[in-house]
Amino acid sequence: MALPRATVNQGKPLDAQARIIESDRQEPEFDSAAVRLELERLRFALEAAGQGLWEYDASADNWNFSPAWRSMRGIPENETIAAQGLDWLDTIHPDDQALVSDLTSRQYAGELHEVRFDYRERHRDGHWIWIHARGRSVFDASGKTLVRIIGTDTDITALKRHELELTTLTRRLGLALTASRLGVWETDCITGVAKWDARTSEIFGLSSVERIVSKGEWETFVHPDDLAQTQKINATGLAELGGFHCTYRIVLRNGTIRHVRSNALLTSGAEGRQVIVGVNWDVTDDIQQTEALRGSKHAAELHSRALEEARQNLEHASLHDALTGLPNRRCLDQRLAALSHSGPPDGVCVLHLDLDYFKQINDTKGHAAGDAVLVHMARLLKARLRNNDLVARIGGDEFVAVLAPPPSPLELKAIVEGIISDARRPVIWEGQECRSGVSIGVAEAPGACDARQLLINADIALYRAKRTGRNCMAHFTDAMQAEIFAKKQCADDIMAGLERGEFLIYYQPQFDAKTLEVVGLEALVRWRHPERGIIPPGQFLSIADEFNAMGIIDSIILDQAVEHLAEWDAAGVHIPRISLNVSARRLGDDVLIEHLASLPVEPERISFELLESIFLDEQNSLHARNIDALKRMGFRIDIDDFGTGHASIVSLLRIAPSLLKIDRQLVTPITESDNHRKLLRSIIEIGKSQNIAICAEGVETAAHAAILRDLGCDSLQGYYLAKPMPASEISSFVRNRAWIARISADLQIEPQDGSVLRQFLRERGLSVAQPLRRTH
Ligand code: C2E
Ligand code: CA
Ligand code: CA
Repeated sequence: MALPRATVNQGKPLDAQARIIESDRQEPEFDSAAVRLELERLRFALEAAGQGLWEYDASADNWNFSPAWRSMRGIPENETIAAQGLDWLDTIHPDDQALVSDLTSRQYAGELHEVRFDYRERHRDGHWIWIHARGRSVFDASGKTLVRIIGTDTDITALKRHELELTTLTRRLGLALTASRLGVWETDCITGVAKWDARTSEIFGLSSVERIVSKGEWETFVHPDDLAQTQKINATGLAELGGFHCTYRIVLRNGTIRHVRSNALLTSGAEGRQVIVGVNWDVTDDIQQTEALRGSKHAAELHSRALEEARQNLEHASLHDALTGLPNRRCLDQRLAALSHSGPPDGVCVLHLDLDYFKQINDTKGHAAGDAVLVHMARLLKARLRNNDLVARIGGDEFVAVLAPPPSPLELKAIVEGIISDARRPVIWEGQECRSGVSIGVAEAPGACDARQLLINADIALYRAKRTGRNCMAHFTDAMQAEIFAKKQCADDIMAGLERGEFLIYYQPQFDAKTLEVVGLEALVRWRHPERGIIPPGQFLSIADEFNAMGIIDSIILDQAVEHLAEWDAAGVHIPRISLNVSARRLGDDVLIEHLASLPVEPERISFELLESIFLDEQNSLHARNIDALKRMGFRIDIDDFGTGHASIVSLLRIAPSLLKIDRQLVTPITESDNHRKLLRSIIEIGKSQNIAICAEGVETAAHAAILRDLGCDSLQGYYLAKPMPASEISSFVRNRAWIARISADLQIEPQDGSVLRQFLRERGLSVAQPLRRTH
């Protein structure tokens, strides 16, 4: 408490005149014992309440302090408190000195009749104590003269400390709330009325002041889609846990949407009423960030999915055929390797498929049509095979199917026959029919196997199937492999023989049917094998053809023939022309024309014998081009083996050959069969009508010769007249003309098989000698 100072009354500066007057234990005089007793009681009550009592007697300028007053300052009871003046001021906290001086001086001056204030004073121990001081002035009857001032001091140090702690705490809390942008609210459970602090108001888009929010108002802010759910969470939380956490959207009055998170607890309010106290914070940014993150995560996921897809596409592309979408060769190899390693105990079945006539479709209808056929084929293969079977396109028109485990023989038969019959159906492409077919080689292994070897075996079987005919299938067998092996050996031998120059020509003369003069020689290839001697073409040509050596052979024969012709010319041996057999492959060779152009020979002295079967393939444009070129160059084109190749007469006549060479198969039976004679007569008539000469081959007897001549053949070729002979024998053969005498004699006397001829002549009312006479 503030101790009044005598000097204050004189209006002098406080500090200079401060004086504390001690008048310890001097009781003021009271008139009656009753009043004294009452006073004692009061003092006692004050002491008990820890209130320090002080009293200033203005008339006596005397001070009185109670024990409690002393003890709160640590001043012993028996210590005399002297007037201290400035010393006393020093015991007051510097921050409070001005306040204390001001109030006390004004009270002593009579301006204030009552003062109450808190200040700090130093305890004797040295620490500060907080004192709540109250003082009241008592004046005389005139009300002007101060008689005394009485006051109480209360030690409020503990209270102040709590207050300070509370202030600190409140400040910290405020700071925390501000920093965390938390809004605080409190709702009365009974009335539903809520108090929102400034921050909560701000969050809800209202001016930043505390407000009272009526029941139902909060709901008007909540996003309609979130209201029911939020109310439910809140109600359940309060009922079951005494609080809730929730996040919901609010729609501000300006339409902005915010996300708010609420944490609330049920508690007792100021008057013991149940209230819900909660904090709200605006989590819009968080949620937007989360959504943005989720968005970018989603985008990243999409991106990585796209990458993964691209990777898979690349991988798929590297393992699949772009046109048909089927696995490709690489994929097949992987599958076969896997099968070989893991070795399926049930075995594997491999089909090797090759389209028939695919090249023709490509050549005549274009690649788009070819593509359509391939796609169609891929589709039908997939449809015919089982789900787990793999079918790959391994090249142009080749497919391989891997069936693991292998189907039963019946199942396999159904699959293969189904594929073959499906493949025969024409594919309609841009209104055009594309006809193809498929040949299939099948190889099977019952248990663990080398799957790649199986593919080779299937290939061997396919080769066999192709040779058997189109739209065929063949099963691989060990014998097949041995045969292939032998063929391969033979092909190697042929190649070696070609290098060593072992291929040479035998010539078979052709004769004028009437004059029996030599009109030409047919060049027939022979292989003079170092061990096996002279080998006829029937034993090696088909292998040479398969291994693509036919073109080389024909080319060698052409060169040799041209050389021989020059030699005979030089020797004065008259050989009108040489006929050369031309394989389809040679005819399709685009260097054939160049080769011929480079040769020193008159074109009209060379005939090319083309097999009738070549013209089945009439759509081959290279063939057609080369035939045209040969004719333009002046070479003769003859049709060989006429009558066996099933080519249409129309297509044959279109190329206007110089000669039709009637096949031996038609010639041989003429001595026996009237039908064959009729057939030959028709052929000859057609030829004549078209100005095409007719040659008969396979003339084996005099009777054949006679009949053919009579039927109107222009020339004859056959063992009866002359067998094929080495080139070296031709000169003497031609010069000696031995055949003339022999044949004349044969035909004038009875031929060896005269019975047939006699019969033949008799039917016509002719004698044996007559034909000759008629012809000469
Ligand atoms: P081809 O062109 O029909 O030749 C006639 C074949 O009939 C020859 O057999 C010949 O020896 C044989 N022959 C001739 N007269 C008679 C006969 O009265 N009776 C019988 N039974 N056969 C007779 P070769 O020389 O064995 O030739 C067979 C086939 O080989 C030829 O048939 C021809 O298609 C082909 N060929 C021969 N040499 C060549 C060649 O240099 N190039 C090509 N591409 N093929 C050739
Ligand atoms: Ca021939
Ligand atoms: Ca022939």
